[in-house]
Amino acid sequence: MTIGVLKEPDYENRVCLLPEAVKKLVDLKAEVIVETNAGKGAFEGDDDYMKAGAQVFSRDEVIKKFGVLLSVNPPGPETLSGLNKGQVLVSVFNPLGDKKIVDYFLNNNQTAFSMDMIPRTTRGQSMDILSSMATVSGYKAVLDAAMHLPKFFPMFMTAAGTVRPAKVLILGAGVAGLQAIATARKLGAVLEVFDVRSAVKEQVESLGAKFVQVEGAREDSTAGGYAVEQDEDFRNKQKKLIHDHAASSNVVICTAQIPGKKAPLLIEKQTLQAMHNGSVIIDLAASTGGNCELTENGKTVVKEGVTIVGKSDYPTDMPVDASRMFGNNLVNFLKLLIDENGNLKLDFNDDIVKETCLAHDKKIVSQRLKNLYGAQR
Ligand code: NAD
Repeated sequence: MTIGVLKEPDYENRVCLLPEAVKKLVDLKAEVIVETNAGKGAFEGDDDYMKAGAQVFSRDEVIKKFGVLLSVNPPGPETLSGLNKGQVLVSVFNPLGDKKIVDYFLNNNQTAFSMDMIPRTTRGQSMDILSSMATVSGYKAVLDAAMHLPKFFPMFMTAAGTVRPAKVLILGAGVAGLQAIATARKLGAVLEVFDVRSAVKEQVESLGAKFVQVEGAREDSTAGGYAVEQDEDFRNKQKKLIHDHAASSNVVICTAQIPGKKAPLLIEKQTLQAMHNGSVIIDLAASTGGNCELTENGKTVVKEGVTIVGKSDYPTDMPVDASRMFGNNLVNFLKLLIDENGNLKLDFNDDIVKETCLAHDKKIVSQRLKNLYGAQR
């Protein structure tokens, strides 16, 4: 099997495989072809890929020759339109939020796997790019908040008096939120955390943060560990409590998301008005609408005296380790698609292969997507 690695668009510093990941695939008897300069943003040169056993080609050559194409960002229409039926794509297509991409693969009889669909099972953990990238985001969000905040994070007893520690409020204690808690604690902040899933209370407390619970959250044991949307009554109760806690916080890190849905709105304009001037909000949910009403995706703005950073793409700012984690997840997934002779095998009896597959042979394969969009054809 010939695995192609594309150079990502200009806004992206990550690459889907570092040379160390290429080597693991070559050891599995796969052939790896890499687009010229694909690793530049992650500080890897074409020579490093060649030393790892890859061949380096122009983009057109890679597209012509690949059997399985890997990328961090979905390839654009100019790449997709020239492909033939047997060529397989593996990327992050966001099919839960974008039915059009699923339709495209069905209509064009293309086989595509989306790494954001890896089931959240014990076996799936080593392939879970969402967790990997959320780890990077949670860490970077706290560092960015510390850079924007006009005061210290830790407490200091100095000859010039005592400096009180920063108070950090974290909304959402999933993978990014838990990493943000751990990072902010290491910097000496005092932490409070909200989540709608009561299961995370223990994890939050074990990291040294205070869990603030709003009674009456709707939880669904069939949601695969994810949160579900809340009713209006709960939302109003939660907003009021968050308002009170945000008003006395120096930093709010927003990570609350619901897969395939708009992010829940947790911080309204009047909460910003109640916060101290100079406070900082980092909104990791910016690309799905934001947890804060005045977030602007991809921008840092000052509204009501509060700095609001709307940023969902921190992993591109830490391309070396983000690419390393992404690549390791991909290699672990590809092990399911490579037989002992290095050839492609598609075993849809394997739950991870099945649930990650958007479309094959003009049919939706993933049960989760079938439930969402209907079985189609
Ligand atoms: P996510 O990015 O979908 O959401 C982030 C957090 O926001 C979640 O904890 C969610 O409960 C919370 N949230 C949603 N609506 C909210 C609201 N209105 N108010 C406050 N918080 C709200 O979640 P995620 O980081 O992808 O993780 C979801 C769960 O899956 C976690 O429990 C995680 O540990 C688990 N997980 C399991 C595996 C595995 O077993 N393989 C892998 C990764 C994650």
